[in-house]
Amino acid sequence: MLDRLFSLFSHDVGIDLGTANTLVHVRGKGIVIREPSAVARHRKSKEILAIGTQAKRMEGRTPQTIETVRPLKDGVIADFDATAAMLAYFVRQVHETPQGVRMIGLPKVPKPRVVVGIPSDVTEVERRAVQEAALAAGARQAFLIEEPMAAAIGAGMNVEEPGGVFVVDIGGGTTEIAVISLGGIVLNRGLRVAGDEMDEAIINYLRMRYSLLLGMASAEELKHQIGSAIPQKKERHYVVRGRDLETGLPKSVKVASSELVEALTPIIHQIVTRVADTLEESPPELVADVMERGILLAGGGALIPEIDKLISEEVKIPVWIAEDPLTAVARGTAKVLENPSLLAKVRVTGGLR
Ligand code: ADP
Ligand code: MG
Repeated sequence: MLDRLFSLFSHDVGIDLGTANTLVHVRGKGIVIREPSAVARHRKSKEILAIGTQAKRMEGRTPQTIETVRPLKDGVIADFDATAAMLAYFVRQVHETPQGVRMIGLPKVPKPRVVVGIPSDVTEVERRAVQEAALAAGARQAFLIEEPMAAAIGAGMNVEEPGGVFVVDIGGGTTEIAVISLGGIVLNRGLRVAGDEMDEAIINYLRMRYSLLLGMASAEELKHQIGSAIPQKKERHYVVRGRDLETGLPKSVKVASSELVEALTPIIHQIVTRVADTLEESPPELVADVMERGILLAGGGALIPEIDKLISEEVKIPVWIAEDPLTAVARGTAKVLENPSLLAKVRVTGGLR
């Protein structure tokens, strides 16, 4: 009874702990935090100096004494302390928001229940660690869910039925490829190739072609502006600034969208190949379902123009993009919290106290 009352005033929190971005969804408010998954700290003492947007702004601009880390860069928790600090920082930001609801005898801000979406590659030990970090950060209960599952739910798929749902979530550090049926992951074939590798491919391409040294942030900006999976009818251009590798001086280059297609093709090809391989490994009944429903694309990589068309042409199955693909996982974690039977089915570890 007390628990029911408690949950009435508590705010459920869904978190997408992505390799590139962390999103926090609060029930009744929507997505309240959307920041890069980044931490800046002293190299030696490990004292944390900045988290999220502030930390990302320091990337590539730090003095020797400071380092910026992406704690989940490759879809595994490479740096537990940084991950825990980041999670705590985001949960507290929500937790400390005044709720406007006060009743005698109830705490001012009840502790939230938290669902955290994590890359499906993380080990059991890492899962425990994330769960404990969420509890330490002030969660009343903490549940974990695999990101492709959350993405499918966020995109409105019914994951509880006995029907195949094929998800491709192209993030920053990882591409999660999973086949879901009956509320569980049947097959999971992610790869550590995604948006970051696309940025690196752009850097390499421009180095070879123009002797231009470009920073990661500029490469990402270029990708956002004129990136494309297949050549477009109308060529577009964007000017980037970097350093001329021969003279050492600053140099501007006007890059064409067709050049980006060339730079991105090898990376996108790796993703497409993995999708095809995963389809080949999938049980035939589920493939039949997927042919009917189509492949669901989510994550920031889904925003690359024509990537849906390219995948569809290669694997001969329709492909559709989740509405607002960058927030699908966060919205999925929130939906799970609203649905107790779904929560019981899809979570990967129970709610420790
Ligand atoms: P994660 O879940 O791993 O944190 P996200 O789903 O947030 O990753 O996606 C981040 C990736 O998506 C980054 O590599 C970013 O550059 C890329 N991205 C975001 N928007 C676009 C866009 N419009 N075009 C191409 N790539 C994009
Ligand atoms: Mg993601």
